[in-house]
This record gives sequence, C-alpha cells and structure tokens, in this order.
Amino acid sequence: MAAKKTAKTKTTAAAKAKKAPTPAHHAYETECVHRGVKVDTLYKSATTPIYPTSTFAFAEPGKAGPYDYTRSGNPTRSALEANLAQLEGGTSARATCTGMSAISTLTYMWKAGDHIITGNDIYGGTHRLFTTLCPRHGVEVSFVNMRDPKVVEKAIKKNTKAIWIETPSNPLLNIVDLEAIAKIAKKHKLMTFIDNTFLGPMLQKPFDYGIDVIVHSTTKYINGHSDVVGGAIITRDKKIDQEVAFLVNALGTACSPWDAFLVLRGVKTMPMRMKAHVENAAAIAEYLDGHKKVAHVYYPGLKTHPEHELAKRQMLGMGGMVSFDIKGGLKAGEKFVGALEIFTLAESLGGVESLIEMPYTMSHTSMSVAARREAGIKPGNIRCSIGIENPDDLIRDMERAFAKVG
Ligand SMILES: *Cc1c(COP(=O)(O)O)cnc(C)c1O
Repeated sequence: MAAKKTAKTKTTAAAKAKKAPTPAHHAYETECVHRGVKVDTLYKSATTPIYPTSTFAFAEPGKAGPYDYTRSGNPTRSALEANLAQLEGGTSARATCTGMSAISTLTYMWKAGDHIITGNDIYGGTHRLFTTLCPRHGVEVSFVNMRDPKVVEKAIKKNTKAIWIETPSNPLLNIVDLEAIAKIAKKHKLMTFIDNTFLGPMLQKPFDYGIDVIVHSTTKYINGHSDVVGGAIITRDKKIDQEVAFLVNALGTACSPWDAFLVLRGVKTMPMRMKAHVENAAAIAEYLDGHKKVAHVYYPGLKTHPEHELAKRQMLGMGGMVSFDIKGGLKAGEKFVGALEIFTLAESLGGVESLIEMPYTMSHTSMSVAARREAGIKPGNIRCSIGIENPDDLIRDMERAFAKVG
C-alpha cells in the first residue's frame, strides 16, 4: 500500500517536472549545487567561469551590454548572487568583499539623527562599527538585552529607524525571539536587519518572520572552507534591493570575481556540511555538559539553555557553535587550548576544520572590558567552532587537553 502510494507520487512529480517551465524550484540541496551554475553558453563549462576583467566593451558610446565595469557588476558575482538569493528565499542578493563590508554598507541606509537598536552581545566587529563609526556620522545606536522584547520596545524613540538583530549571539549563543521582535518593529514601522551568519541560511529562515534584510559573513558557513573572506546582503523587496545595489556600487564594497567563484564553489556542499556541524556540535556539547572541569556550557540544544524552547521553535538545527566556561578561568583556558592538537587556535568559524578561541582575549577585544562584562563574556570562556571531523577524535583531543590542565 505504502509502496504503491510512493510510486504514484513519483509519477505525478515526474510528470510535473516535465511540464514545469525553467527555472524550476528544486529541493534545497539541489538548488545549492545548481543555482547560478552552468552560465557559460560559449563552452558550456560545468562550473561557473571566473571573469577576471575590470571592464567590458560597449557596443557603441552610451550603449553598454549587461555589464560595463566590475565594481558595478560581474558575471561571476551575479552567479553567486543568484545562488545566495535562493539560499535565504530572497529575491535578490548582493555579494560583498567581507561580512563587515556588507554591514558597513547597510549603515549607509541611515542618516545623521537616526537611532538604531541592537543587542548588547552582537559580533565584536559590528559592535566596534556601531560604537565608533556610526556616531561619527551622527547615527546613534542603543545596545540592549534583546532577549527581552519588552526591553527592545522600551528603547524605541521618536527617531528610531531600525532594529539590528543577531541570533544566536556570539559567543554565548543567546537566542532572540524573531517573531516577537519583528512584531514590535512592524507596530512601530521600523526596518529589521539580521546578521544570520551564526546559523547560516539553512538553519534559520528570518524572512519567514518578516525580517527585511539578511546579512551574512560568507566567510563562515556559506563558503565553509576558511579560504576566503566575503559577505552578502539578501533582500526580498525591490526598493530595498535597489538601494542596497546603489550603495554597494557607490561605496565600492562588492566582492571580486575570484572570491565570488570560491564562495560559489563552497556553497554547493553547504547542506551536507551543516548536517555534520550540527551533529558534531551536539556530541561535543553533551560531552562538555557535566564535565568536572567545565563550569558552564552555552549551547541552545541543551535543555538547561534558557531559550531552549524558543530555539527548538525558531531554528531548524542547533548550529555548529558551542562555548563553555572552563573551571580555573583564563589561565586554565590558555593551558587547555594550547594542549589541543586537532583544534586550531584561531578566530573565525564555520569552516570544515574545528577552531577554538578565547573571546575575552581574542575575538572580543574590540569591545571594552565593561561591554564584555555586560555581555557576560568571562575571561575563561572558550568558543568552539565544531568542524566536520569525526566527533570521537574531537572529544579525545579535548579529553587529552583537559588532562593537561591539571
Ligand atoms: C565574522 C562575522 C562577521 C564579519 O565578517 P567578516 O567576513 O569577517 O568581515 C559579522 N558577523 C558575524 C556574526 C560574524 O561571525
């Protein structure tokens, strides 16, 4: 009976596929591999060619082809942008040279006198941009505990223009309620931006909650191989996209065709990589939770995480990041990370290889000591970006290192 049903469904699907006009929408994994690929009509290469040119010939004065200058547009970058737009279910994407360039580009949507609300535990680079450069241009930013929607609503002023969200946060993996924040934003007619880097486009779907603009550091899970820096801005509103495209061109923040090629290559394996990241991080979190040398584990998949229920509702997976406080603080932490063999002591995240770092003295030093304290980042906090290696090897590596801490 069940087999018959499957066979029938298959026939219908096959018939539909035959009739469907191109481009058809396929399953996520299929789209990741094929979207923006096979654009070479001349030689029909199976991968997307790199167009390493700064400029393109005009047919005649004033009559440009589809591309005129690589800062404004390049076929390799367009291919990546087509792929990135589908990853998030947006209508357009703009690929930038770094995650920070994507974020700094977006800050130009605000003008002197505008007020922005964000979390007090956002990415260190964004925190630096918002505390130093935004005020130089007359844009005021309030940093609040975004886990409490009431606090966010209370922070709204007459000149508030936007809410900048990041969830899960870095490095403590606090979760912001996207539905609640989007509702508040709508009520007060504020634009919403989200930095979706920490989960990647597969595990969190901000457009489903009505978020306006999604930004990524493609350096992380989207590229996934720690061999390029890049960023992306994804939208689903024509007017907003046109403004973003104008800004990227005017500011010159677009990515090079070489980098676009690398990110497009990386993204094809993202669904498979994400599955491995999620499984491995769960195994590591379980190992660390209750370990006698660990004071606290931060991981949304743990029942003890304060927003565990929200995470289950809002996220399609718990992600590949785990952080913990080691007993003995900074000194013990330094000994531990120094004794690891498989984990690389490095900032960044989302690559196939496991990375480990100490936010208090590494990734988050651009935040003042007071800001780090307010965000709850302790000197003995250790952040792990769990790679796609065999989890048993990762656990053995940690066990060896814990033994050396004494
Ligand atoms: C890394 C990161 C960025 C910055 O991206 P770069 O590519 O390093 O410029 C922004 N936001 C988050 C959450 C990040 O992890």
